[in-house]
Amino acid sequence: LRGRKIECRIIPFENRRQILVTHDATDTERVEAMRRDFIANASHELRTPLTVIVGFLEIALSDPGLDGATRTAHLTLMTEQAERMQRLIGDMLQLSRLESDEFPLRRERVDVAALVESVAAEARALSGGKHEIAVEVDGPDVMGSMEELRSAFANLASNAVRYSPQGGKIALSWRRGADDLQFSVTDRGIGIDPQHISRLTERFYRVDKSRSRETQGTGLGLAIVKHVLLRHGGRLKISSTPGQGSTFTASLPNTSLPG
Ligand code: ADP
Repeated sequence: LRGRKIECRIIPFENRRQILVTHDATDTERVEAMRRDFIANASHELRTPLTVIVGFLEIALSDPGLDGATRTAHLTLMTEQAERMQRLIGDMLQLSRLESDEFPLRRERVDVAALVESVAAEARALSGGKHEIAVEVDGPDVMGSMEELRSAFANLASNAVRYSPQGGKIALSWRRGADDLQFSVTDRGIGIDPQHISRLTERFYRVDKSRSRETQGTGLGLAIVKHVLLRHGGRLKISSTPGQGSTFTASLPNTSLPG
């Protein structure tokens, strides 16, 4: 029992006897601590853009004679910050739906080949021609949630673009593994130091906060990926070499094959 938090209560029982009730509260405490952390992080993430917006509103109110160009510049910055809050709230809502028992997974037949092609097209748009985005598909259709898988795959592909500032090749593939089905994204980007890898799917965990923000990251993408895969009975594998690039593999079980 070392390191665990045990709660005890003594309840009087008949004939002057007593009952000792014990309860292991370690896990409840851990869940509570995670919840507190999440709320603290989320509040902080939302407060930063709001502070910027309020600042510019105050300038606009106190200086009605602001010239047109400055006004436009301020409005542009305010819009960017408002959009950042929108992305954050969108990701938070998505994550909470994925974790909730009220929204069980609804499986349908997913044409993964078409899905990967459309994710690649989105990644090309995001890249703006800076990366060569290659697609290799020879895996089957699966039974799963089209919307959730799209979101997971798109998050991995957009990370590959966002964390490869020098450009380079990004390879998306969908294939059968030895005993699973694998969607992989390989980039030649900045890579990840091994000490961070096991924590990347934690909400708001980022190796480099400013790079994440500059590239419109919310810090929730990989948490979303992890939950989508968990709901599908799969998991995320990450391998990376700092300075050389990373491979993120979404592994789905063979049981996802259409019957
Ligand atoms: P973010 O919105 O910050 O990108 P994610 O949850 O998608 O949030 O990723 C968490 C962190 O993992 C990122 O901030 C980044 O440090 C790291 N990361 C994710 N994908 C890659 C990648 N392809 N290459 C290098 N680092 C990555």
